[in-house]
Amino acid sequence: PHKSKVTVVGSGNWGSVASKLIASNALRLASFYDEVRMWVYEETLPSGEKLTDVINRTNENVKYLPGIKLGKNVIADPDLESAVKDSNMLVFVTPHQFVEGICKRLVGKIRGDVEAISLIKGMEVKMEGPCMISTLISQHLGINCCVLMGANIANEIAVEKFSEATVGYRGNREIAEKWVQLFTTPYFMVTAVQDVEGVELCGTLKNVVAIAAGFVDGLEMGNNTKAAIMRIGLKEMKAFSKMLFPSVKESTFFESCGVADLITTCLGGRNRKVAEAFARNEGKRSFDELEAEMLQGQKLQGVSTARELYEVLSHRGWLELFPVFATVHEIAIGRLPPSAIVRF
Ligand code: NAD
Ligand code: 13P
Repeated sequence: PHKSKVTVVGSGNWGSVASKLIASNALRLASFYDEVRMWVYEETLPSGEKLTDVINRTNENVKYLPGIKLGKNVIADPDLESAVKDSNMLVFVTPHQFVEGICKRLVGKIRGDVEAISLIKGMEVKMEGPCMISTLISQHLGINCCVLMGANIANEIAVEKFSEATVGYRGNREIAEKWVQLFTTPYFMVTAVQDVEGVELCGTLKNVVAIAAGFVDGLEMGNNTKAAIMRIGLKEMKAFSKMLFPSVKESTFFESCGVADLITTCLGGRNRKVAEAFARNEGKRSFDELEAEMLQGQKLQGVSTARELYEVLSHRGWLELFPVFATVHEIAIGRLPPSAIVRF
């Protein structure tokens, strides 16, 4: 029977942990080739060495996931075309702002039988309206694309602390099961649900709520206020998702990708952390500046998602229906002070 070959497109904080999970299963399961390719956006480290060379020599992503062995069967490759050319399973896991450029470069370079999955939390806004990242991948490359989202702070999974995740799929349960098999470990429990849009919107929208939660932390408003923001934020997530895609299921919000991811990101995520610093500085230092200083090359998704969301909301006349979503953007661009997050 034919074996599957996997390439991970992306090698940031979560991309590296995803490679580690996949590599352990590729070795263990006969239905996958041992080798897992990981495409690396090449950079030169302060030592003068190339990141790819260091990953392949030390088996660690020293910049984005230091101290964690990825597995000897992970091969870092700086050449996008060569990284994907033999693979029939592509795992997309880059910050969302880079994915369209990557897809354009991949047109005509992939196998005809490719299946994809996106671990990317974000969306694009086109003239026609919002476009989810899995749709962008599907449309550019003419392939099916599932999603995997969940309460998954990468650094915790890297040290094998237990967590859950949700695979969202469209029609084909068999393909979804294959992805579940590729990702599941004793410390990473994956469940599949037939609701791609619901799963992906949960992962995308909770980043905006996490920015709001960070503002509350920075203003030292306490736990009740933070819980209120999370509750109202969750209701906005559900209302927006259903207005955009009536097929989105209620039950999806109770999977790991829904309420669980919202909780973990509002407690321990990067969006929360940088938004807290933003509020402590009373908005005098920009998110771009704080991101660069605090995250050392890792990227926030919530600030750009808030902007993209704001575009959709104003275009559709929905701004008043989504006070948390709208206010996060207005605070991020300096139009309102951080304290406006609790003005309803
Ligand atoms: P990251 O935040 O660590 O971002 C850094 C990555 O971006 C590096 O690999 C860097 O090489 C790459 N990069 C920088 N400039 C680039 C360019 N011009 N073109 C292409 N790549 C470029 O990335 P991450 O943590 O792997 O996040 C990827 C996605 O996974 C995001 O959508 C994020 O929301 C999601 N996610 C992250 C976590 C987490 O805990 N880190 C958990 C779940 C989901
Ligand atoms: P942050 O990007 O805010 O760290 O969130 C990570 C995440 O998506 C956890 O599931």
